[in-house]
Amino acid sequence: MIAFLDLASINAPYMEEMKEAANRVIESGWYILGKEVGAFESQFAEYCGVKHAIGVASGLDALHLIFRGYKEMGVMKEGDEVIVPANTYIASILAVSENGLVPVFTEPSLESYNIDPDQIELKITPKTKAILAVHLYGQSADMRRINAIAAKHGLKVIEDGAQAHGAMHHGKRVGALGDAAGFSFYPGKNLGALGDGGAVTTDDDLLSETICTLRNYGSEKKYHNLYKGVNSRLDELQAAVLSVKLPYLDAANARRHEIARRYLDEVDNPRIILPEVMPDNRHVWHLFVVRCREREVLQRYLAEQEIGTMIHYPIPPHKQRAYREYAKLSLPLTEQIHEEVLSIPLHERLTQEEVTRIVAALNSF
Ligand SMILES: *Cc1c(COP(=O)(O)O)cnc(C)c1O
Repeated sequence: MIAFLDLASINAPYMEEMKEAANRVIESGWYILGKEVGAFESQFAEYCGVKHAIGVASGLDALHLIFRGYKEMGVMKEGDEVIVPANTYIASILAVSENGLVPVFTEPSLESYNIDPDQIELKITPKTKAILAVHLYGQSADMRRINAIAAKHGLKVIEDGAQAHGAMHHGKRVGALGDAAGFSFYPGKNLGALGDGGAVTTDDDLLSETICTLRNYGSEKKYHNLYKGVNSRLDELQAAVLSVKLPYLDAANARRHEIARRYLDEVDNPRIILPEVMPDNRHVWHLFVVRCREREVLQRYLAEQEIGTMIHYPIPPHKQRAYREYAKLSLPLTEQIHEEVLSIPLHERLTQEEVTRIVAALNSF
């Protein structure tokens, strides 16, 4: 069986270093907001090419705290609109709606699966305050055009980088392409911890300071509370593990790239639509997503050949019960994508033989 994802195998090369790091934390007697979190924040900020990284408890919290920070700063208020891609993981949308902001669902481009800049312009109203760009499946959204639209209309640009650690657009890393970015270190992401974790990256000193305070009960210094904050901190153990893995991220992404190259070169089946890499993008292949009209048949066929697959995602946010107030929106491209996509195995520990088997199975479908 070729598993869709095998986290034990992905983490195996780092096992000794991770155990040393964990021992160091356990023996230190300091478990929350200490040296390890500080060190990882500096390393991750440098890696992304920004001034600040703030470690938080999850990717959802990272995105949530960016919008919350802007509200505390008076940049946004309840009822303001945020343009979001309609085809994304629900966390992107929750971060907006949980802040009392209104998500404005916008269609993607069928080539990149990322938000379509032409559609963004049509959605801007006097209430629009921000664009949330999700770098879906590991490929940057068209940030050059998105930033130009935002500059023209005075909007903030927030990146959801949860699937795109290390990806680049015109030579610049995701996390440094907008006003602020949210990352997830959920174990299955390209940079994954051994539990939940997340980070915000930004060059904005005031936003960084506000989020640092918000994540720690809104406490500016101990027992002095500036905001009604939350408890959302990256912990020392996860930070130490992430510091072990970060130096290997580029190599892992390069291996993902080689495997994706093989799929793109070798899969040749008119019933299967392959993903495309947009010009000036460095894709990091968090997911290798194909499209197929007979998606369920293909998934069953691959299962018979002992190849694990997944669907990212089966139901778009506006069709979820949680967002039933948006159920009547007409988003035909988003709905088509959700009906046709299938993710095939792609991670840095797949062997050449496994890739060969997967290619053969896709070609014989
Ligand atoms: C995983 C993910 C998130 C949420 O991250 P968590 O750490 O699981 O909260 C947000 N957005 C996207 C696009 C994701 O893939």
